[in-house]
Amino acid sequence: MHLDTFMSLALKGTPFYGYNLPLLRRTLDTIKQEIAGYPFMVHYAVKANGNPRILNEIQQSGLGVDLVSGNEILAALKAGFDPGKMAYAGVGKTDREIEIGIDNDIFCFNVESEPEMEVINEIAARKGKTVGVAIRVNPDIDAHTHRYITTGTSADKFGIDLPMLDEAVDLAMKLPNLHLRGLHFHIGSQVTTIEPFKMLCDKINQLLEHFEKRGISFEMIDAGGGLGVNYEQPEKNPIAPFHDFFEVFKKGLKLRQGQMVHFELGRSIVAQCGALIAKVVFVKQNAAKKFVILDAGMTDLIRPALYNSHHKIVNLTSQEKEIDTYDVVGPICESSDVFGTDQQLPMTRRGDIIAILSAGAYGESMASTYNMRSLPQSHFID
Ligand SMILES: *Cc1c(COP(=O)(O)O)cnc(C)c1O
Repeated sequence: MHLDTFMSLALKGTPFYGYNLPLLRRTLDTIKQEIAGYPFMVHYAVKANGNPRILNEIQQSGLGVDLVSGNEILAALKAGFDPGKMAYAGVGKTDREIEIGIDNDIFCFNVESEPEMEVINEIAARKGKTVGVAIRVNPDIDAHTHRYITTGTSADKFGIDLPMLDEAVDLAMKLPNLHLRGLHFHIGSQVTTIEPFKMLCDKINQLLEHFEKRGISFEMIDAGGGLGVNYEQPEKNPIAPFHDFFEVFKKGLKLRQGQMVHFELGRSIVAQCGALIAKVVFVKQNAAKKFVILDAGMTDLIRPALYNSHHKIVNLTSQEKEIDTYDVVGPICESSDVFGTDQQLPMTRRGDIIAILSAGAYGESMASTYNMRSLPQSHFID
């Protein structure tokens, strides 16, 4: 079992991210099987995990990438991704970042405002290039996820609102150094029911029809990402429900001749292949609670502190039959530095090795050096 391997790696030092590459490969194979025979293309959202070894693995599987900064474009190029499979999103692209995208001839800028289109057009004109763009639409769909990771309602900063979309499409078609490829959507992250994706399909169909009536057709639609994973029972659900996800789009979208659908999946590709491995520094009894204090903290994995998110926690070393209740916390000087409250664990002692599961997405990529801590290491099972 891979957790045993992480346990022996822990002797060399903790904390670290342990990645199960065979599981990542099985996940990528599942995606390839599900989209085979359909005009679908999947981009990996690099912000979920930009570890070079993970990027290499995903590059070899033939996926494209979804990028949100100039440095991510450079990292993807370094990992060998084809610029013709790069989509670049973000509400605040700087001139320098736009230049990186244009100079490397990326497939598509997912543009989020009219001023952004004008600036991209201007920079492209200066360089004598024409740039592919898709307009990010705010479809006003509530993905029913945490408010920090919902992106597609009219109160969010992302995309162009529906009432302003006609004008934005007209502008994109008028600007001479832009080539409008299509419309882009991304409704949020950790979406665990298929309803919001069904609503997205209906909205896309409506918009395709609306623009067709205006004599405008698109070569592609980008449906974004957001497919959730099972944080409660990761061992039983190591691979996200890709079949159900793609089925919604296969059945729900009324595609026109030659139209491609792009997807941007981050979390669902890498979450389950990674675990944060830490050592117990102290077990501490307070008046009301018992605490397991780890050598990993919110600087290594910020999701519980930032989104109040749940990760399954297991003790890899304890042989005890007796179960006790603990709050599992980190060493950082912040009250939110908590990985889990009231966790049922076998009796835990100083020196035990703990695994925090489903940490492959938005874990290592969000690590910081707050409290002057070192960034976490990474180890791979191949
Ligand atoms: C973060 C992001 C994604 C990936 O979201 P996941 O929930 O990790 O699948 C896709 N598209 C855009 C534009 C993003 O910002």
